[in-house]
Amino acid sequence: MTDFTMKTDADGVAIITWDTAGKSMNVLNLDALDALEGCIDAALADEAVKGIVITSGKAGSFAGGMDLNVIARMKDMAGDAPAQGLFDGIMHMHSVLRKIERAGMDPKTNKGGKPVAAALPGTALGIGLEIALACHRSFVADNPKAKIGLPEIMVGIFPGAGGTTRLARKMGAMAASPFLLEGKLSDPAKAKSAGLVDEVVPADELHAKAKDWVLNAKDADIVKPWDQKGYKMPGGAPYHPSGFMTFVGASAMVNGKTQGVYPAAKALLSAVYEGALVPFDTALKIEARWFVNVLMNPSSAAMIRSLFVNKEALEKGANRPDVADERVQKVGVLGAGMMGAGIAHVSANAGIEVVLIDAKQDAADKGKAYSEAILDKGISRKKVTPEKKAEVLARITATTDYAALEGCDLVIEAVFEDPSVKADVTAKAEAVLPEDAIFATNTSTLPITDLAKASKRPDQFIGIHFFSPVDKMMLVEIIKGKETGERAVAKALDYVRQIRKTPIVVNDARFFYANRCIIPYINEGVRMVKEGVEPALIENAAKLVGMPLGPLQLTDETSIDLGVKIAKATRAAMGDAYDNDAADEVMFWLHDEGRLGRKANAGFYAYDDKGKRQGLWEGLRERYPPMDAQPDVTEVQHRLLFAQVLEAVRALEDGVLEDIREGDVGAILGWGFAPWSGGPFSWLDMLGTPYAAERCDQLTDAYGDRFACPDLLREMAGKTQGFYARFGPEAKAA
Ligand code: NAD
Repeated sequence: MTDFTMKTDADGVAIITWDTAGKSMNVLNLDALDALEGCIDAALADEAVKGIVITSGKAGSFAGGMDLNVIARMKDMAGDAPAQGLFDGIMHMHSVLRKIERAGMDPKTNKGGKPVAAALPGTALGIGLEIALACHRSFVADNPKAKIGLPEIMVGIFPGAGGTTRLARKMGAMAASPFLLEGKLSDPAKAKSAGLVDEVVPADELHAKAKDWVLNAKDADIVKPWDQKGYKMPGGAPYHPSGFMTFVGASAMVNGKTQGVYPAAKALLSAVYEGALVPFDTALKIEARWFVNVLMNPSSAAMIRSLFVNKEALEKGANRPDVADERVQKVGVLGAGMMGAGIAHVSANAGIEVVLIDAKQDAADKGKAYSEAILDKGISRKKVTPEKKAEVLARITATTDYAALEGCDLVIEAVFEDPSVKADVTAKAEAVLPEDAIFATNTSTLPITDLAKASKRPDQFIGIHFFSPVDKMMLVEIIKGKETGERAVAKALDYVRQIRKTPIVVNDARFFYANRCIIPYINEGVRMVKEGVEPALIENAAKLVGMPLGPLQLTDETSIDLGVKIAKATRAAMGDAYDNDAADEVMFWLHDEGRLGRKANAGFYAYDDKGKRQGLWEGLRERYPPMDAQPDVTEVQHRLLFAQVLEAVRALEDGVLEDIREGDVGAILGWGFAPWSGGPFSWLDMLGTPYAAERCDQLTDAYGDRFACPDLLREMAGKTQGFYARFGPEAKAA
């Protein structure tokens, strides 16, 4: 069965229906593109056809976008000339969409074409919207849940099937920029007022309205502005005074936001700028060239792999044990503090009954009020209805009474980080829980295997580690203790799927995976302060390599006292092997000065009375005067990145990580590891293991053994072997 089928009705309107077999939402692959072209050719050639409506066979949606696996395949298929193969493939896509747009009209007179309308039952993303933009008029059903937009930039590419060129020409570069450069999605009403679509109509009138328009459209109605004489870009082309300002501003904005490390945003802007100076068909060619440029950049391939392909695979249960459905019906949350309140909210929001327990009733109530505050914010932004708020809140029972846990199939504990308090609540909860309930801890530092000793059922005990703030952070780290059984893992994964977050599953070890890698990043930054590296150089080097926060700002955000606490506990656990005195000296000094970070309005940074960050604190340079000769920015970046990625390699070596996909996806979602790189293992593959090992040796000579090349990396370097080539899913399957 082909994905596009066509039927011509009695009024001479050809209805082309897109229905990807076996998928809940349409996605475009190469065969489907051929099928679409076949339908268009047939409709244009058939004299009985007066016009065309392109729609979807899926209720409530038109398309989710391009099947991004296809891009990777297109490249592979092209053999020795992947760039040429990609360019030809993209130009073919342009020709199909251009065929829709020109619809058989005379190139000189613009007359004689057949009207083509897009009838979108709902969501139209990526290529879904690009097809609609090529049609002469787009109708979308008034389905408030629908999302309309071009999110390609989010996975490291840009709309490359004409969406970039068409949208910029339709609405002007300035107005198009949130949709192109930020991947902004809109509901149908907002999409119409922005100009992404032309009409919003009641769902049951969608086809009739589209058909009616097709039957009544005149020649002039179907000629796009850019195919008419004298077309001028709204807001001005680059050499127009206002257009000039737009492009200067957009260029500055892109560089400011991306620090120049995301190739797609720059390439997109170039495509719009250069395209605006030439006729439409040449602009499409320019767009295709820039698109190929992006697709050939290792960064986009790595981002697509981690942020699209592998993230989705993990969410769909790539590492789920083969046991029956463990979806959660009723969850108990112990401790209604910052984390517990967030966990209760995301659970109730996903339709799960929640019992939220704290030691005192007012603390439990405060936890529930946190959910209410998030929902109220949603209402003020029109993202939540009052009915939805009532429903979500009705699912949360805030109490001090453990008896209310009866019937819970999962409990997540988020009480104080103290083993005896945790042991106490574990015993109290297990006294009332059903025999088969799973007990999870949200601890960030305590070994799961030790905490499981307080449980009567250690095989049903597991770590479910959230990141703060719970409602915003997309990663959840699931940690298996020594005795954790498969059903507990399945329960945790099914729960994470219910709350629509991304899971990674790791084995128990100090700081698990994410914190294990981020702590060395912080320490390396703080250590450099002690050495006399300019604090601003440390912070800017980190941001210029794509880290969301410099290590000093991150320390202020998470608090200096937490850093001190972790340092003391680590020293106690590691004894003589502990090697962090240089960073500790700075941290302990700030701590003694009462500079505890953002919460104290004083830390590595200075803050004003309202808590607004003012810049790096001058006292830092007085205490640790900057050296005369400052290091090169790349040297600082390599120290900061190697500190993290070597820890990731050690986690793989130790068996804490079982799947490098989890290592990469977890790093980006968990602590914002330079997303352009695709994650630590993707970055090492980009560097090449021989060069990475060589850098380890140089960094070790210059700064110490913490940069010692792990045996695994050394061995791989000897064979010039990549991490994905050895540990990727294809290698594992072989
Ligand atoms: P918090 O201090 O904000 O909240 C702890 C809550 O537990 C308080 O409301 C307290 O009253 C309650 N509590 C204490 N003893 C209790 C008992 N015996 N019975 C019932 N309730 C009790 O702490 P938090 O930041 O929410 O952290 C909670 C847990 O989550 C800790 O294990 C922490 O390590 C972990 N964690 C924290 C973060 C973070 O960023 N804060 C991130 C991941 C994990």
